[in-house]
Amino acid sequence: MLCLICYKRIMTSLRFIKGIGPKKAALFNKLGIADIEDLAFYFPRKWIDRRLDQEKKDLPFVSKAAVACGEVISAREAYAASGLVIFKAMIKRDGGGNTEAVFFKRRARGFDVFASLRKDFRPGSRVWITGDSDDMLFLSRIRAQEYYCDNDALAKKLHIGRIIPVYSLTEGLTGKAMRETVAAGLAIAADGIGDFLPARIRSKRALFSRAEALRSIHFPENYFQLEFARKRLIYEELLLFALACSIRRREIREIPKHFSYEVKRHLLTPFRRNLGFELTAGQKKAINEIFDDMMAPVPMARLLEGEVGSGKTVVALSAMLLVAENGAQSAFIAPTEILAQQHFFAFEKFLKGLKVRFELLTGSTPAAKRKKILEGLASGETDIIIGTHAILSSGVKFKNFRLAVVDEQHRFGVRQRAAMRNKGDLADMLVMTATPIPRSLFLSMYGDLDLSTIKELPAGRKPVKTLETDEQTAFDAVARETAAGNKVYIVYPAIEDSVQAGLKAVKTEFEKIKKFFPHLKIDLLHGRMKSGEKKKAMENFAAGDTQVLVATQVVEVGLDVPEASLMIINNAERFGLAALHQLRGRVGRGNKQSKCLLVCGSRTAESSERLAALVNCPSGFELSQKDIYLRGAGDIFTEEQHGDMGFKLADLSRDGEILRQAISDKDELLSIDPGISAPENAGIRAKLIEQYAGKWNLIDLS
Ligand code: ADP
Ligand code: MG
Repeated sequence: MLCLICYKRIMTSLRFIKGIGPKKAALFNKLGIADIEDLAFYFPRKWIDRRLDQEKKDLPFVSKAAVACGEVISAREAYAASGLVIFKAMIKRDGGGNTEAVFFKRRARGFDVFASLRKDFRPGSRVWITGDSDDMLFLSRIRAQEYYCDNDALAKKLHIGRIIPVYSLTEGLTGKAMRETVAAGLAIAADGIGDFLPARIRSKRALFSRAEALRSIHFPENYFQLEFARKRLIYEELLLFALACSIRRREIREIPKHFSYEVKRHLLTPFRRNLGFELTAGQKKAINEIFDDMMAPVPMARLLEGEVGSGKTVVALSAMLLVAENGAQSAFIAPTEILAQQHFFAFEKFLKGLKVRFELLTGSTPAAKRKKILEGLASGETDIIIGTHAILSSGVKFKNFRLAVVDEQHRFGVRQRAAMRNKGDLADMLVMTATPIPRSLFLSMYGDLDLSTIKELPAGRKPVKTLETDEQTAFDAVARETAAGNKVYIVYPAIEDSVQAGLKAVKTEFEKIKKFFPHLKIDLLHGRMKSGEKKKAMENFAAGDTQVLVATQVVEVGLDVPEASLMIINNAERFGLAALHQLRGRVGRGNKQSKCLLVCGSRTAESSERLAALVNCPSGFELSQKDIYLRGAGDIFTEEQHGDMGFKLADLSRDGEILRQAISDKDELLSIDPGISAPENAGIRAKLIEQYAGKWNLIDLS
C-alpha cells in the first residue's frame, strides 16, 4: 500500500515508455532527464490555452491560441514570392461562423509539401486547427501552426481542445513528442511518486498532493488546477530551500574556528587618521558588530546592508585591517572589474603610509603580474587582495586566509559565496549590499546571514532631487552643471541600436551628444568595451578631465565620484526600481546638491507607478517597502542566483506570499522538531538530503 510519510525517488528508466529507444533517451539526457522522475519534474516553461471556450481570466504564464474545430468546406493552394507556398482551407466551425485556415510552407524542389494537408483537408473532413489570429473575436482567419484530424484520439487528449504545456526542447525533439512522452511517463509513475509533505502541512495550506500537482502542472483541466498545482510545487521548493538555509546557518554556528583576534591598533589608528572624516554612528555600530563576530568562537556570516553612499567600504576595510593586524589575510571581491579597480584606488588613498600590502587581481591582470601576486598570497606577504571573481579561481592559494568580503552581494550567487569561504579554514565572511531587500526575501535568500544595517548617510549629504523631464531640459542641465565645474552621468539602456523598439543605444547617443556639446570632454563606458578602455574611461571620469560620462547600467554599482552632481537616466521606464535607485546613488556622494533626471519613453501604468515612487522617495529602505519594488524587479537577483537557488518554478519576485507561508511553516517545524527526525517529517528529511546535502554540504542531516 501507499505509505504516506515515506518518500522515495522514482528511478524507473525512460526506456519503459513506449517509443523511447536509446536514441530518443539520449535526447532527453541532453535536457537533464535521465529517468521518469526527472521527466515528471521537467516543468513546462509556460502553457497555451487551446480550448474552444477559453476562460476570461488572464494568467501571466498562459497564452491563448486561436482554435477552431469544424468541417472543411473547400481548400486551395497558392504561390507567393520568395519561395513560399500557401495552403488555404475554409472551415465551417461547429459553433457557427467560418474560419479561413492559412498554412505557409517553404517550397521544396521535388517534394510535395502539401501532400498530407491535401489529404486531410478534403471537403467534408472534420479538423482542428490552432495558431494565431488578428481576429480573436470572430476567428475569420487563422495562421495555422498545427492541425489535427477530429478522429485523432490521442491529439484530442493531449494536443488540442485543452490547455497544453510548452517545454524547453532540444533539436530533434518536438513539443508534440515531448507532450506525448510526459503523458506516458506520468501514466506510469504519477501515483508512485511519494508525497514528502506531512498531511498536517498539506491540509493547513490547502495544497494539492504531489501526484495531483504533477498531473495538473503538465496537463491542467483549467486555470484553477494550474494555479493550485503551481502553488503546491512552488511551496515545496521554497519550504525545502528555507529549511536548507536554516540548517546551514545552524551548522556554521556550531563549528568552532581555530583563530581569534586582538585589536592592536597599529593599523587601525593610522587608518582612522587617514580617512579625513568622522565615521557615522551607523558605521561605528556596524564595525562593532563585525568585530564582535570576528572575535566570537564561530565563523562570522554577516550581511552589511547600507544605503548607497553610506560608506560600507571603510567599514569593510576596518575589518580587513583587523585581520592584517593579526598577521592574516583577507580578500575583497567585487562583481565587476570597474568596481574592483575603484576599490583599489580607495584603498590606496586610505592605506597610504600604512605597513600593509595589498594587490589588485582581475581577469585582465597580465600573466607575469598575476604570478607575482599569487606568490605573495601563497607566502603570506600580501595582506589584502582586492579583485573580481578571478580571486575565486582554484589557482589562488592563501597562506592564512581569514576574511572574505563580498561587495554588492546581490550580484553573486550562493555558490560563489561558498567558494570564497572555502579558500580558508572556515573564514569569516562579510557580504555587503546597497540594494535594500524586503524582509521576506532577505530571510529566504540570506537566511544563513546575520544583518547589520547602516541607515544614515555621512553628514552634509543632501538627498538627490529626482524629477522627470524631457531630453532638452536634461541637456540644458548638462550645460549648467558642467559650467559650474561638476560632472555628469548620462545613462542609456542599450549598447547598440537593436530591434527592440524605443530603446536608446549608448553608442549612437554618444556620437550625438559629442556633436551637441563640442566644447565638453565626453567619454563612453559600457560593458562590451575592452577592460583597458573601461579602466581608462573610468579613471578619466573619476580623477581626470572627463566631464560627461555616457554609459550603460554598468555604472550602477560602485562608481564613487563625489564631483558628479547630475545623473540623467534615459528610458527610465525600462529599469526596475532597484536599478533606478542604484543609478541615482551615483550622484549626491559629495556635498553638492545633486539631481537625477528621468527621461522617459512611452510607459505602462506600472512603469509610471515605479517612476512616481522613485521621484517621491529618496530612501532606498523606504522604497523597498513598496509593493512595486518587487514587481518586475528581477534585477534584484542575477540569473546566477536564480540558478543557484535551484528553483524550477518559484520566482521570488512574484511568489512572495507562498514564500511567507513556507518560512513560517519552516520556523514552526524546526521549533517542534529541530533535528527533523520525527516520523511525520521523515519525507522532508529524505527530500532535503536528496536535494541539498551534497550541493550545500549539509552534514547535520546525512
Ligand atoms: P557605499 O556604501 O555605497 O559602498 P562608499 O563606501 O563607496 O559607499 O562611500 C561613499 C563615499 O563616502 C566615499 O567617497 C567614502 O570615502 C565617503 N565616506 C564614507 N564614510 C564617510 C563618512 N563617515 N563621512 C564622510 N564621507 C564618508
Ligand atoms: Mg560600495
